[in-house]
Amino acid sequence: MKKIKNKLVLIPILIFVLSVGLLVFMNYNNNSINYKSYTSFEKDLSAKNISTIYLTDSPKIRVQLKNGTIYDTDNPRTPSTKETFLKNGINVLENYPVNSRQVYPIALMAVSIISIIILSLKPSAKASKKAFSLDSLDATAVEDSNYNFNNVAGNDEAKESVKDIVDFLKNPEKYTSYGARMPKGIMLYGQPGTGKTLLAKAVAGEANVPFYAVSGSDFIQVYVGVGASRIRQLFKKARNNNQGKAVIFIDEIDAIGKKRSASNSSGGSDERDQTLNALLTEMSGFNEKEGIVVIAATNRLDMLDPALLRPGRFDRHIEITLPDISSREKIINLHLKNKPIGDIDIHEWAQKTSYFSGAKIENLINEAAIIACKENSATIENDHMDKAFSIVLAGYEKKNRDYIRDVDRKITAYHEVGHALVSSRILPNEKISKITIIPSTKGAGGYTLSIPEDKLYENKDYLKKRIMVLLGGRAAEEVVFGSNYVTTGARNDLQRSTNIAFNMITQYGMGKTLGLLNMQELYDLNINQDKIIQECKSLIDSIYGEVKNIIIENRHCLKKITDLLLKKETLFSKDLSELKSTAYR
Ligand code: ADP
Ligand code: ZN
Repeated sequence: MKKIKNKLVLIPILIFVLSVGLLVFMNYNNNSINYKSYTSFEKDLSAKNISTIYLTDSPKIRVQLKNGTIYDTDNPRTPSTKETFLKNGINVLENYPVNSRQVYPIALMAVSIISIIILSLKPSAKASKKAFSLDSLDATAVEDSNYNFNNVAGNDEAKESVKDIVDFLKNPEKYTSYGARMPKGIMLYGQPGTGKTLLAKAVAGEANVPFYAVSGSDFIQVYVGVGASRIRQLFKKARNNNQGKAVIFIDEIDAIGKKRSASNSSGGSDERDQTLNALLTEMSGFNEKEGIVVIAATNRLDMLDPALLRPGRFDRHIEITLPDISSREKIINLHLKNKPIGDIDIHEWAQKTSYFSGAKIENLINEAAIIACKENSATIENDHMDKAFSIVLAGYEKKNRDYIRDVDRKITAYHEVGHALVSSRILPNEKISKITIIPSTKGAGGYTLSIPEDKLYENKDYLKKRIMVLLGGRAAEEVVFGSNYVTTGARNDLQRSTNIAFNMITQYGMGKTLGLLNMQELYDLNINQDKIIQECKSLIDSIYGEVKNIIIENRHCLKKITDLLLKKETLFSKDLSELKSTAYR
């Protein structure tokens, strides 16, 4: 492409050089025009041989005879010269003669300059033409994509959450006959390479409908309105395909749907707003019966414009997490399938690849295959995997800190189990559905509590217990690793526990300093805030002491669950109930 472009430019450049040469040559010829003395000119004048005189301010005037001869002679520079000539019936021109032959090289030169400019601008000129058409988006439907849920290993929760969408796409009438409204938009969020695109493709494949994929960044154009028109064309295309059903996938939706911040509310965001509005309009434009589902993907849900996430838009949010050890094993198996493998311990590789995304695992196996091929080995061996592992790690390590040190993993595990342990001791009715050390978009590890019953009010005892659970993470860190080695991981817990304690004392009348007074109503008065902070602090301190005691009493159990968590990376309630019967007394 670049070569052709260069060659095309060569032609006008050549013409340009040639025409300059020609001009120089002609001028040189002009200089060799004959000179005649003024007296011989006077002879021609009296003989009435002269047809035209070019009279300018220059020292010479040019004379053209009736027989065509041209010569220069001295300019007499008398005021009446022109009159004399005219009286003799001579054509007097007061500009310099333009040599008609010179016109051609000048014209050529102009043409070549213009074409050089056009040619060098051509790529963008082409791009702007392309920008208005959808074809450049590559949003051609993949009608019978071979993808299905079997291509997505792990991600079971996410697969479960999109199953009804597949069913809906297969027979929308069924759902509409029940008056059910299917989500028009699904937002997949999670770290890059975790299989969001793959899942969207699988939805289309399972439902056997066309799949249209675009990326948010495709819509960011220089020209205002182009992005919006592309969106409209995309939906038109999806709607007009012969089935009338489709999955539209928008990767990197944040490129068009980022939260509007004060700093970029002016200027460049105009185009983005138009694109976003077009998308929202299109999404509210089709009705539930139509069988069009828009799936979008982003790495950061919290960066998105809330307008995108409202009901009727992307109202189903599905987190795609990094795979835990058992999912990694499935992914490795999947990608090793159809490859000649030797003696590879898949379980061991699942252990080694903690914090790898699906894409990274795929990359690892691909590297191993390449190495095996280079070595002409009949099968992919453990050795090849080892080499590939160092290559892949070296390539990624600088970019993200996903090769989290073992120590960090351990601290995270103790921290999370600390929460879970305290919770199971003091709030035995709250089921712990999940503990994990796999980082999510929300932060490092995480554990989930499912609250058993909806309470209208929360009492003082319950609030205190909530604080205890929140402090359980930090308490476990301190008890196990010592007070000098506590980490920043408790920040969010501390924010939340402080908030509860502060509200207890200042809003709910559960403290001593204010008693039943409500701080909000007293704000204008100069109340003693130090005393309130002091009370919050002593409340938290005493609760923390209790929490530490629980941890110390249950140290053995804490270690046992933590070891299991380190091994499995994610524990579900069934893993915990097994432990509960033995360890929790
Ligand atoms: P994302 O869209 O989340 O960035 P992709 O769907 O593009 O990630 O994943 C890139 C590649 O990584 C896929 O084509 C696939 O080969 C591999 N991959 C990622 N997750 C999985 C998974 N859960 N199962 C199998 N392969 C996966
Ligand atoms: Zn925590």
